[in-house]
Amino acid sequence: AKFVYSFGGGSAEGRAEMKALLGGKGANLAEMANLGLPVPPGFTISTEVCTAFYKNNRAYPDGLDAQIRAALSSVEKIAAAEFGNAANPLLVSVRSGARASMPGMMDTVLNLGLNDVTVEGLATRSGDRRFAFDSYRRFISMYSDVVLGVDHAEFEDILGGFKEQRNYTLDTEVTAEEWQGLIARYEALVEEATGKPFPQDPHEQLWGAIGAVFKSWMGARAITYRKLNSIPEDWGTAVNVQAMVFGNMGETSATGVAFTRNPATGAKELYGEFLVNAQGEDVVAGIRTPQNITEKARIEAHSDAPSLEHIMPETFKELKANFDLLERHYRDMQDMEFTIQDGKLWMLQTRTGKRTAKAALRIAVDMAAEGLITRQEAVQRIDPASLDQLLHPTLDPKAKRDVIATGLPASPGAASGEIVFDADEAERLKSLNRRVILVRIETSPEDIHGMHAAEGILTTRGGMTSHAAVVARGMGKPCVSGAGALRIDYAAGTLTVMGVTLKKGDTITVDGSSGQVMKGEVATIKPELSGDFATLMSWADSFRRMGVRANAETPLDARTARDFGAEGIGLCRTEHMFFDAERIVAVREMIIADKVEQRRAALAKLLPMQRNDFIELFEIMAGLPVTIRLLDPPLHEFLPHADHEIEEVAEQMGANPDQLRARVAELKEFNPMLGHRGVRLLISYPEVAEMQSRAIFEAATEIHRRTGKAPIPEVMVPLVASRAELDRVKERIVAVAEQVAKETGVAIEYSVGTMIELPRAALRAAEIAESADFFSFGTNDLTQTTFGISRDDAARFIGEYTSKGVFKTDPFISLDVEGVGELIRIGTERGRSVKHGLKSGICGEHGGDPASIAFCETVNLDYVSCSPFRVPIARLAAAQASL
Ligand code: ADP
Ligand code: MG
Ligand code: MG
Repeated sequence: AKFVYSFGGGSAEGRAEMKALLGGKGANLAEMANLGLPVPPGFTISTEVCTAFYKNNRAYPDGLDAQIRAALSSVEKIAAAEFGNAANPLLVSVRSGARASMPGMMDTVLNLGLNDVTVEGLATRSGDRRFAFDSYRRFISMYSDVVLGVDHAEFEDILGGFKEQRNYTLDTEVTAEEWQGLIARYEALVEEATGKPFPQDPHEQLWGAIGAVFKSWMGARAITYRKLNSIPEDWGTAVNVQAMVFGNMGETSATGVAFTRNPATGAKELYGEFLVNAQGEDVVAGIRTPQNITEKARIEAHSDAPSLEHIMPETFKELKANFDLLERHYRDMQDMEFTIQDGKLWMLQTRTGKRTAKAALRIAVDMAAEGLITRQEAVQRIDPASLDQLLHPTLDPKAKRDVIATGLPASPGAASGEIVFDADEAERLKSLNRRVILVRIETSPEDIHGMHAAEGILTTRGGMTSHAAVVARGMGKPCVSGAGALRIDYAAGTLTVMGVTLKKGDTITVDGSSGQVMKGEVATIKPELSGDFATLMSWADSFRRMGVRANAETPLDARTARDFGAEGIGLCRTEHMFFDAERIVAVREMIIADKVEQRRAALAKLLPMQRNDFIELFEIMAGLPVTIRLLDPPLHEFLPHADHEIEEVAEQMGANPDQLRARVAELKEFNPMLGHRGVRLLISYPEVAEMQSRAIFEAATEIHRRTGKAPIPEVMVPLVASRAELDRVKERIVAVAEQVAKETGVAIEYSVGTMIELPRAALRAAEIAESADFFSFGTNDLTQTTFGISRDDAARFIGEYTSKGVFKTDPFISLDVEGVGELIRIGTERGRSVKHGLKSGICGEHGGDPASIAFCETVNLDYVSCSPFRVPIARLAAAQASL
């Protein structure tokens, strides 16, 4: 079998499409080589080797060794250097690269092939001893950290102490001789820590590094990242071995990273940072503050450090041409790494760039306008869940801000929370429902879980491409990076700026759009829903088949839903209207009444209030369908339970406390979720259904009277298991409709349907459909009843189920397509077999979940209904499901 794929010298065995086999980095290195871009030669060891490695008890497949040797010798030919050769050594990097990009998750080793002998060869050939020993010391510390398990910080301590002693601030001040001395100390440290001298054999080094990459696939950091991003374990990682090019060869050398468009705003402008005389991770590590690539960005950043455009105009031009070529070729914004070795440009990586939700919208809309992609593609490129970031608040420009520092606007959005300095602490406080801002000098992959738990992130070091910035943008969290005026003292738990000291636990606000850091909590406002958002949503709407409605009962929610583009109400839970302080008294009177007349009298008090509710909703939803569910929860939910409450309520109602207490006891159920509720109540107390129906029809008539246009109420009966149940209640609804029509002289058009939320209802959908004008799949209850899991009790074990892999996802969040989905499919098919085109939709949390929405499209539902804030997400997800 073929395990190794070569690239370089103007061609490659791989292609961009081979990401599953070569990983993202390897596939794109191959693609760039094929495009004729200057890529240092190298080869990719495929992900299949990683998979085989773990399957075979951490052993490599037969034949790998020979393939690697052959590929290495072709790299030697192209690079005109020899691995391990004392006079002319080939040096390589060993880079991991999984199928999905996992920034910073896996460790790269640079300058491999150096040893005490070859370093002299490198010094002689390059004519630069400082450079050669700088490369060697980097290699020893990186290799020892990644492969031999000697902590990077130990090397940094040696170096830091030395620099302090000499009064150096920059690594570049250290001379060749001084590096040689430091290298001896590094080697001694390694020998002491590992019991063995630092490996001198380049082949041993190479195999050590390859093994380390494969092993890092199962490292804690990688596992966390995969879990957070649902990346399957069996994908494996590839390993890229590539000839080194050097950005640390003095003032004519540099290294940098760039995006073809601004990843924070989406603006069409080359965007990036670089460092002169630096190597590899220096730019993102935040050790030196990087310089801007373009002159425009330098001016905007008010930076004195010259731009690449200024100091190397020719190389800049070539770089810009490469960027343009790559963006046109991939038809998406690219995130690239490059190195300039003594004036010669080398491309080291390209990938589709991560971006904020705002930038994603702008880029998609712009690229469609530029003709680079179609509108369909633009719609498909936006992750529906990411819209959430745009729908949430930003800082109120009018609110008072006590700005204590300004850093870089690394990831937009605003957040307030208490200061924490430690990722574990952030996670712990989050689990206690506290809102925290993670404050660090800089972040590393070890902090990912804390970043996840935090509302926002603040660092005092690092640029726009620092770890904190890149990861925060990916997560959609506000981030301010490089706020250099702030002094963090981890040990004391303080943050100091200009004489002000904040402590751990104090509240701060970060605004990742402006880079400002503020003391205390600052008010926020709703986001703007026009511009690119509106454009993209209108395209989505034009491709979407399913309707999108909202679950809403209050006027506020209904209005929010309309603003977000809801096309009606899919679920109005009428009981929510009963909890109002004024009404609850009448509701309770109705419940404790033991005669029908008393009950009717109490209901008569509720009628005008309920009618007003509907008038308001119908007005907001003018001309749109409104599905109203009749009373659903068990009655005990409306009654007081504690003894003192019972006394109080009885007095309020002018009722006998003993009578109330007796009624409370009578209504107690062992399992209310499966008890006297829904249609069962409506059958016991048909007066309730009658009152609610009357309120609905009278409200509709009133709107008709006012506007000449009647809404079309859809009256929905909950928790039906059989047709007979529905018929009982329907009879009453129809009778009331006729009565109201007779009284008012206006016959309102309406329909009567049912929720399908019990497995039996789905199975008997054909006969139920004889009586129902529509179905609405109530997937919250349908999930409970299908699994036999009470949603209110599930929290205790669902987490364990998902973490142990018993459940792939929480079925209350993402629809269980196989089980609950099957019931929806059966219900729809059987219902429609007797009533052609029977209107069917879904309501419940799943109506706003993109994966569940995709399923709804496959069973041809007419609409999904979700909470108001998820309406835009549902519109986009429904469009993507149609395409
Ligand atoms: P990551 O996936 O963390 O970005 P990379 O493999 O891309 O890791 O490498 C880390 C750094 O080392 C990057 O800045 C990259 O450009 C640099 N680098 C990798 N290989 C080489 C090489 N052959 N020559 C010069 N620099 C390299
Ligand atoms: Mg990289
Ligand atoms: Mg229900």
